[in-house]
Amino acid sequence: MAVVSYKCPNCDGELVFHPRTQKYKCEYCASAFSQEEINRLQPKAEGENQENNHALQEENQANPHDPMGENQENVHAPREEAGSIYHCPSCGAEIVTEETTAASFCYYCHNPVILSGRVSGEFLPDKIIPFVIDRKQAVEKFLDYVHHKKFVPRAFFHKSQIEKISGVYFPYWMADMDLEGALQAEGRNVRVWRSGDTEYTETKVYRVEREGEIHLEDITRNALKKANGTLAQGVLPYDVSHIQEFQMSYLSGFLAEKRDMERAELENGVKGEAEEYGKQLLRETVKGYHSVSVKNCRLNCSREHWDYVMLPVWTVTYQGRDGKMYYYSMNGQNGKVCGELPVDYKKVWTVSGLVSLVVFVLGLVGGFLI
Ligand SMILES: [Zn+2]
Ligand SMILES: [Zn+2]
Repeated sequence: MAVVSYKCPNCDGELVFHPRTQKYKCEYCASAFSQEEINRLQPKAEGENQENNHALQEENQANPHDPMGENQENVHAPREEAGSIYHCPSCGAEIVTEETTAASFCYYCHNPVILSGRVSGEFLPDKIIPFVIDRKQAVEKFLDYVHHKKFVPRAFFHKSQIEKISGVYFPYWMADMDLEGALQAEGRNVRVWRSGDTEYTETKVYRVEREGEIHLEDITRNALKKANGTLAQGVLPYDVSHIQEFQMSYLSGFLAEKRDMERAELENGVKGEAEEYGKQLLRETVKGYHSVSVKNCRLNCSREHWDYVMLPVWTVTYQGRDGKMYYYSMNGQNGKVCGELPVDYKKVWTVSGLVSLVVFVLGLVGGFLI
């Protein structure tokens, strides 16, 4: 599998995607390039020339039993248990990756590398939302978030900890669905009145019918098993009006993960939820009755469209004193934050100690006055 990186045509430095300008910036000579210019550039690939790499990729794609092309690795890159080894196109050092890594950095020269085979063929994402929030803004927002929380250990927002903040493209499945539904119900209105000694009750029974078409868009689900489900869903939603056709170059300068959950695994759950939601919408259109009993309600999915998408997330992990890992994540497009923050019990005790001391003193004053 080829490892590629994007090189500056002026100085051969690394090009990384720059969220603020939405352009590609050379880290060395500060040149900037648009997406169109990048598309014209050939990315530099591991050792060999481009033709070989393309041939290798096609070969990988042609082998259905080896979609990731792991077995196509040459002698430099033996397969490993937990991941695979590749070579950095810049310095030639070995890059050890996990099974789902799609973009990373060379451990030795820190240059960005993209494992092209993991974002091509059947794993080629359909769409991507590029990062809008850059590292500096992510750090500012993170500090702002943490400073407003009480009882967070100081170590959690220490500089060395913050530097570990990572921009990661996470894999998601995104579905659009058209549903057709019909509902039959019975509505009742009851009127009670008196005339002299007689009480009259009038019950009107209505046959209620509803039919409708429901269109649901951008139902988004995490597609990576090891991702923390709460966080992966917690950063949603994204503004999909800014979604782009996938370009591998967007990954340059970020980490990226490839999906390990197929659409089939999620399909039933998503359809079930969509149907429940559709039924609720139909039910809500029945108004103006004292009571309603639904006799029949069915929903069929008449059309569905799924996209495999990459969404930008800033993440921080922190190992608490209790050994527990804490995760924090931020939507890389709009800055929405979610996560569980560690609690510094010393800080909690000090504050509650102060509170009880104040109460105690007040109690004393109260006692004294009486
Ligand atoms: Zn340059
Ligand atoms: Zn390197």
